[in-house]
Amino acid sequence: MAATATEPQRTSVLGVPVDVCADVGEAALALWQRGGGQIVTLNAEMTMAAKADPALGAAVASAALVIPDGAGVVWALGRQGFRVRRSPGIELARNLLVHAAAHGWRVALVGGSPAVMEQLTARLRQELPGLQLVLSAHGYQSAEAWPGLEQQLVGARPDLVLVALGVPRQETWIQQLPGRRGGLWMGVGGSFDVWAGVKKRAPTWMGALQIEWLYRLVQEPSRWRRMLALPAFAWAVLRQG
Ligand code: UDP
Repeated sequence: MAATATEPQRTSVLGVPVDVCADVGEAALALWQRGGGQIVTLNAEMTMAAKADPALGAAVASAALVIPDGAGVVWALGRQGFRVRRSPGIELARNLLVHAAAHGWRVALVGGSPAVMEQLTARLRQELPGLQLVLSAHGYQSAEAWPGLEQQLVGARPDLVLVALGVPRQETWIQQLPGRRGGLWMGVGGSFDVWAGVKKRAPTWMGALQIEWLYRLVQEPSRWRRMLALPAFAWAVLRQG
């Protein structure tokens, strides 16, 4: 990724802000150069959640960069005349880790189960030997442990923090973190599970057919209720004209 500044263009889908950028990797690096901020990866499910949950809505609205992750959001932007490529958050996060390893960035990882975090850090040490991990903490800490961990995290002055606590917690946690400044802070959902080898991403042919959601549903049937947001999203976008 080259660090040339590209100005993302802010628009919205169903009233939820999203940034159209030529290259999300470049936009993220430009944000880091400007002093950092929160990155949100927006899909259809999250758009509906942000409309229904004021705390998540506020976190998305105050994020420095909101990237269109998911076929639904790309489709809705297309109806507004924006031709954008889908930018899966997991790919941006991985590219940022590679960049971090090559440029001596200070990296922190928060979230995932204790076993996933252990496997993930072992794998990353192998796959990205230059990676400077200043903090790694699983996402099932006791309530008493969080404030100390948060202080340690902010004090570590990270350049990149990937947070896998699930939506909406990861977004609101980042937004409300006391003393946060500098660096890129990004919620990554189930990415740690995928990188640790615990979960699989949908095969590329399913991505091409835009039915990654179906793969996800088969892998995690308990998500069906959450996924009712998808037809609701499509209906709301179509109704807008
Ligand atoms: N998680 C966590 N602490 C919690 C709840 C969840 O660290 O209290 C982690 C969980 O282990 C998983 C991630 O958060 O790695 C959520 O992944 P999911 O695919 O559900 O993300 P979403 O679809 O909500 O973005």
